[in-house]
Amino acid sequence: MTTKLEADYLVVGAGAMGMAFTDVLVAETDATVIMVDRHHQPGGHWTTAYPYVRLHQPSKFYGVNSRPLGSDTIDHAGWNEGLYELATCGEVCAYFDQVMQQHLLPSGRVSYYPMSEYQGDGRFRSQVSGAEFQVTARRRIVDATYMRVTVPSMRPPPYGVAAGAQCVAPNELPRLRARHERYVVVGAGKTGMDACLWLLGQGVRQADISWIMPRDSWILDRARIQPGSRFARAIGDGLSGQAQAIDRATSIDDLFDALETCGQLLRIDPDVWPRMYRCATVSRKELAALRTIKDIVRLGRVQRIDAHEIVLDDGRIPTTAGTLHIDCTADGLARKPATPVFAGERMNLQSVRTCQQVFSAAFIGHVEAAYCDDETKNRLCSPVPHPDSDLDWLRDVIADGQNALRWSEDESLRAWLRGSRLDVLQHLGRSSPAATRESAESLRQLRAGLAAQQEKLSILLGAAGSASPASSSRTEETAP
Ligand SMILES: Cc1cc2nc3c(=O)[nH]c(=O)nc-3n(C[C@H](O)[C@H](O)[C@H](O)COP(=O)(O)OP(=O)(O)OC[C@H]3O[C@@H](n4cnc5c(N)ncnc54)[C@H](O)[C@@H]3O)c2cc1C
Repeated sequence: MTTKLEADYLVVGAGAMGMAFTDVLVAETDATVIMVDRHHQPGGHWTTAYPYVRLHQPSKFYGVNSRPLGSDTIDHAGWNEGLYELATCGEVCAYFDQVMQQHLLPSGRVSYYPMSEYQGDGRFRSQVSGAEFQVTARRRIVDATYMRVTVPSMRPPPYGVAAGAQCVAPNELPRLRARHERYVVVGAGKTGMDACLWLLGQGVRQADISWIMPRDSWILDRARIQPGSRFARAIGDGLSGQAQAIDRATSIDDLFDALETCGQLLRIDPDVWPRMYRCATVSRKELAALRTIKDIVRLGRVQRIDAHEIVLDDGRIPTTAGTLHIDCTADGLARKPATPVFAGERMNLQSVRTCQQVFSAAFIGHVEAAYCDDETKNRLCSPVPHPDSDLDWLRDVIADGQNALRWSEDESLRAWLRGSRLDVLQHLGRSSPAATRESAESLRQLRAGLAAQQEKLSILLGAAGSASPASSSRTEETAP
């Protein structure tokens, strides 16, 4: 028998984005919401991530708008020493559980169905009892799964592993009870960095670690993404340096050179020019530690791990039965084609500011609550796809700037941003261009500056033979 349910919204996915979106709907409307998720608790990928993962950016601007995360303190030990605290995986999960149990459910307007698989067209089924449900969503069905976050524990390695070779997800590292003769970290994204740092933190000798790095990455300095006045000067200097770098750049390589010189971007090996950019963030202490690993394998992606060798795209390296291979190759957030956020009876939650997913979901929630028609809503919520390559840094600065310009024209939106704890720019010791209270003249100057940057970056991309990145032209229609 199928149970019929009715609510204003059906939100599919109780991950960070589904939670941040629903939190704003509850705060700003009288809507009722049904949330469905296949996991047993809210928090999405955090519930299956490796246990030593932490937020990559301060807790201060992560989570949902209505409830602070963390205790607003500066770490005095560890890799993040001197910087604002980063919630642990456990803290993030506990936080989302509290938001659900102490805030959303007691509102009386949210119903939550964990352990339930959404099957499309408003239908879902409990994975435990087998009970089937059919939801009538009076307003919208909200896809909060669009980002398709993948962490290594969710799937087997995407390459063959011969019998006898040891290959584990990074989740397994804290369960190790015996020393391995060598550790090979496969993958150079943030998960790979975290695995290397975990091994080093346990006292594994640098010489016993090999790091398979198909692509080198431009990395963000976490000290430049900090709340509070203590960091305001360095952050302001960095942003001025970035504006100057854009203004003076004669080519894309020239731009990245200047961005590195002013400290806006970092790289692990100063002798290798990165072609990847995925918003990975490190502290200077972490960077120094990562640089101590000398056996970096740049032979492309792993094709398979045999008993005695690792076969890569561009070569082979020896391995042994006593070596532990750590698969850190999952995409995290994949670079997916953008699709309209508001699409009639559907919504697709995506980033509207680069690498700020929870802010984006909350912002979309506000726009849904405060504006009437989908055309206006989509104009304010132009997706900013998750970056992957170095060129995406330019594209995302342009797309962010376009959204910021639109937001800056709307006084009520500026007021909302001023009150949003998830708006990172509120915490960086300067106001977001969209949120500023300043005079009409300073707003005009800010807009002119943003427009000039967008124009210059478009020219650089054009000269490099890369399509102009107007975010509307990156938006593809897909069935939600
Ligand atoms: C390791 C890591 C660290 C990160 N650190 C930061 C950080 O420091 N700061 C920051 O801003 N962002 C960070 N992010 C990104 C961040 O967590 C975002 O919040 C991201 O967008 C994840 O949220 P989500 O809700 O989109 O996806 P998910 O967490 O994947 O949530 C989607 C949910 O949908 C459910 N679902 C999917 N399909 C179905 C179905 N058919 N039926 C039922 N349920 C379904 C899943 O079970 C899941 O719970 C990090 C990401 C990773 C991977």
